[in-house]
Amino acid sequence: MQQSILRSGRSGIAINSYRGRFAPSPSGFLHFGSLIAALASFLDAKSTVDSLGNQGIWLVRIEDIDPPREQMGASSAILSTLEVFGLHWDEPVLYQSQQSELYQDTLADLKQHKLSYFCRCTRATIKALGGMYQGHCRTLNVSEQNSAIRLINQHGLYQFNDIFQGQVSCNKNLAQEDFIIHRKDGLFAYQLAVVVDDIYQNINHIIRGCDLLEPTARQLSLFKSFNKQAPQYGHIPLAVTNDGYKLSKQNRAPAIDNKNPQPALIKALEFLGQMPEPYLAHESIPNIISWAIKHWCREKVPAVTELKPLNKL
Ligand code: GLU
Ligand code: ZN
Repeated sequence: MQQSILRSGRSGIAINSYRGRFAPSPSGFLHFGSLIAALASFLDAKSTVDSLGNQGIWLVRIEDIDPPREQMGASSAILSTLEVFGLHWDEPVLYQSQQSELYQDTLADLKQHKLSYFCRCTRATIKALGGMYQGHCRTLNVSEQNSAIRLINQHGLYQFNDIFQGQVSCNKNLAQEDFIIHRKDGLFAYQLAVVVDDIYQNINHIIRGCDLLEPTARQLSLFKSFNKQAPQYGHIPLAVTNDGYKLSKQNRAPAIDNKNPQPALIKALEFLGQMPEPYLAHESIPNIISWAIKHWCREKVPAVTELKPLNKL
């Protein structure tokens, strides 16, 4: 039996040197918005050099725990796009679909520690109760059948210091909800899987899009429930469509052109405020990437002016 994350000796930040990751869900191909997140997390890792002169480690994790939302061929297409853009990962790709035993053992441990409970409330019930989940089933001893599992959210952390955004204060009520860690349909919830794997992979820096700002609060609470040190988070602005919508797989943002990657790479660096020099337009991908590692400047990454609606809670 695999050890659960609660019992594992992993401390989160046990390792001093930088370990970052990009964690796409294969629900579609890589688009400009996800390229920016991949590039920022890669550059932040590679521009951090430890006392022995080693660059940060950068990993790719495929978050394929939601088969109904998965698009055939997306995982391998995402990986080839990353390679075309010179974003090479340092350790074998981790697939969340291979981690079920660890998630299952962690759920069993949370249950044993009385840190979770079954809930059969529907969206409609929660709406009728005021829209927030107020721990309705905490003491009801709901049976397992057709139930979701919720975390007893003892910590309810809602503030944190973001690498790019500074002090962030999330919606306190949402952050303090007993959120779902195992879904009624039998799938593991994103919040559980992402934290278990960030601990499992000893990730200590997470750079991603600011659509994940609010979920960070819940993830911080989960780290605390596991008694592990949380990584440092940095959220970058989201690329939006002309009418202000988030570029996402759901709203069918166009996939990246693998045949002509230079313009998108330069555009992504511009978006991240890194001011790529004009001559780079005629350079090879490895040359642009080396320039970008050398010149990566966290302070130049624009702040998020407006927090976007939450789509990951
Ligand atoms: N898999 C998530 C997504 O594609 C991102 C998870 C994360 O970076 O924490 O939106
Ligand atoms: Zn309930």
